[in-house]
Amino acid sequence: MMLRDERRQIVDACRKMRADGLVVGTSGNISVRAGDLVVVTPSGLDYDAMTPESVGVHRLDGAPVEARLAPTTEMAMHLAVYARTDAGAVVHTHSTAATALSTVSDELPPIHYLVALFGGPVRVASYATYGTPDLAANMAAALADRTACILGNHGTLVYGADLAEAYAHAAYLEWLCELYLRATAVGTPRLLPLAEIDRVKAKLAGYGVHPAPDVPAPEA
Ligand code: 13P
Ligand code: ZN
Repeated sequence: MMLRDERRQIVDACRKMRADGLVVGTSGNISVRAGDLVVVTPSGLDYDAMTPESVGVHRLDGAPVEARLAPTTEMAMHLAVYARTDAGAVVHTHSTAATALSTVSDELPPIHYLVALFGGPVRVASYATYGTPDLAANMAAALADRTACILGNHGTLVYGADLAEAYAHAAYLEWLCELYLRATAVGTPRLLPLAEIDRVKAKLAGYGVHPAPDVPAPEA
């Protein structure tokens, strides 16, 4: 079986996506790019029943290379991301706070510095029927200069350098939307200036685990 590791990673991430409450039932889908190929969830399959064998491998034009089942109905959205960006993985969720926000707002504004993870305020794409070229086009427009968008009355789409990053950012996006809904329920949130979001974007490039700084040797 080709790309076994990527297929296994996708199965594990799908189960986690449901356990973490980012989707309900068979909602959502995940893909990983491997060179000229894309490894992607099948459509409509219960995540508990998903195995590496049921995850398909397709070309970047969507043609199947090794796939027992039809790919996600949102294949056009996934392929549109790979055609426009250097994404290594794409995660599509129906997470509750983001989807609620999509019904009342045109964007997730800079309510917290972590919107910098996505390049700035996250836009809401105009609604179109799931699985259509129109939805892929609306998504692509909303994604410009961002690594995520919210799909109007539908869910979210997030990409990352790899599946770990795309998944982690999908969880951050949901947390930010929840924060926004809670804040707007009790008042008008103070927003951060876009210059601050740009500053944080540069700073986050160096964020992560680092060796402890050298400590001067104690004096004898
Ligand atoms: P699939 O099961 O075809 O991936 O569809 C789920 C979904 O979220 C459609 O938008
Ligand atoms: Zn969906």
